Formats: sequence, C-alpha cells, structure tokens
Amino acid sequence: MMAFTGAGISVESGIPPFRGATGLWSKYDPKVLDISYFLDHGEDCWKFIREIFYDFFGKAKPNSAHFALAEMEKAGLLQAIVTQNIDNLHQMAGSKNVYEFHGNSSRLVCLKCGTTYYTEDTDLRSGPPRCKYDNEILKPDFVFFGEGIPSEAWDKSFECAEQCDVCLVIGSTGEVVPASYVPHKASQKGAFIIEINPESSQFTYSVTDLWLQGKAGDVLPWLMEEIRKE
Ligand code: NAD
Repeated sequence: MMAFTGAGISVESGIPPFRGATGLWSKYDPKVLDISYFLDHGEDCWKFIREIFYDFFGKAKPNSAHFALAEMEKAGLLQAIVTQNIDNLHQMAGSKNVYEFHGNSSRLVCLKCGTTYYTEDTDLRSGPPRCKYDNEILKPDFVFFGEGIPSEAWDKSFECAEQCDVCLVIGSTGEVVPASYVPHKASQKGAFIIEINPESSQFTYSVTDLWLQGKAGDVLPWLMEEIRKE
C-alpha cells in the first residue's frame, strides 16, 4: 500500500491549502512562486515567501493523520508516501519512506553554485537569505511554477504507483499536474484507490474506488484502528 498526499492532510495542522475560499491563493498572487518572476524579483518574492512558508509552516506540527500514516509504515502496512506537500510534516511524524514530488521548504538552494542550506541555520528575518559564496538570493528548494519535478522523486513516485496494490489518496484536489498522474498510474496498474477528503475532487469520479468522506485527521486514525482489529 502507498499513500499520495496533498495540502488537505496538513489543514488540521493549521496550514491552509492553496485553493478554496480560505486557500492561500485567495490572499496571495501565485506569481511570487513563478520561477521566471522569482529570478527577476527575488527580493520582492521573499517578503511573501517568508510570510506564507516560514511563518505559517514554521510553527506547524504533524496531526493525527500524519501520525497514523507513520504508524502504518511502522506496522509494515504502508510502503511509501508520495507527497505534494513541502512542509516536512510526514517526516516530523516519523515516516521514513517519503518521496517529495514538489521538494521541501526546509532547504534553500543557490541557483548559481548549487549550495544547499537549511532554514534552521539561516537568518530569514533580515532581508532575503543569500549564498555565502556568491551573494545570490537563495531559492526555497521546492518546485516553483515553471520548474521541473526532481527526477529521483519522479522515478520513485511512479515506481511506487506501478507496484502498489492499494493507494490512499488524501487531501488533494487532483488539479496539480503532473503530480495527479500518480494515482492515475496506480489505478491503471490495477491498484484499489481509497480517497480521503471531505469534498469531492478530480479523482472521486475518475479513479477512486472507495471514497471515505471526511477529514484526514478523523478518518486515518479510524482506519488504523480498524486494521488493528483485523
Ligand atoms: P489543494 O490546495 O489544491 O486542495 C486541498 C484539498 O484538501 C481539497 O481537495 C480539500 O477538499 C482537501 N481538504 C481540506 N481539508 C481537509 C482535511 N482536513 N482532510 C483531508 N482533506 C482536506 O491541494 P493539492 O491538491 O495538494 O495541491 C496544491 C499544491 O500546493 C500542492 O502541489 C502542494 O505542493 C502545494 N501546497 C502544499 C502545502 C503544504 O505543504 N502543506 C500547502 C498548500 C499548498
């Protein structure tokens, strides 16, 4: 079994999703995460990036859904998590086999020399963080609009999708491509798709075999309990 997770699994940790009435895009302009805009206006983008990703994400803690997935892995029931999230909460909950389709916000990278930094060792308060070797503005090491998917995450994610017998699809609208191809690939290869989401999504009436309608923080601990009873 594998899990494919989206922004919805972290909503109960206090991180808003991108879409919907309370989503981040109702407040911010998505262009601040467009790579070509960032390259020309890095300083401007960082004002928003700091607020969105480090003020919100920095304080967030894993919730019962993240912990239930970590428990499933520990019990040998879950082989891997493919996540669209960049918030590090699966790892903080104890999950080991996590493929980050869109990278991770806890790393920063210099696009000029490739040096990687960790946010915990970097001052994000006094202006945009810069590379100590060439003074370039650092970019958060997650995938911006207009950038490709990290190749290792891509390969591992589709490998999981091709091999799994069950795929849990948790908290994703399915509107972000190519990430949404992962559950589609799993379905094509014969996996049973269980979706967990309070709302219907692009997956619900296409690949989903069983829709457990509800919040991830309620449904996943319940599912783990049910499996334990077996
Ligand atoms: P999305 O913002 O498009 O949609 C969120 C989905 O979560 C919706 O289907 C919604 O119904 C569902 N949802 C809301 N509350 C839920 C809950 N308690 N339990 C389960 N589901 C719930 O999210 P997406 O499809 O993941 O795509 C957005 C992109 O934005 C992703 O690629 C991701 O990289 C990025 N993103 C990440 C974070 C994060 O790292 N936490 C936050 C915002 C956006």
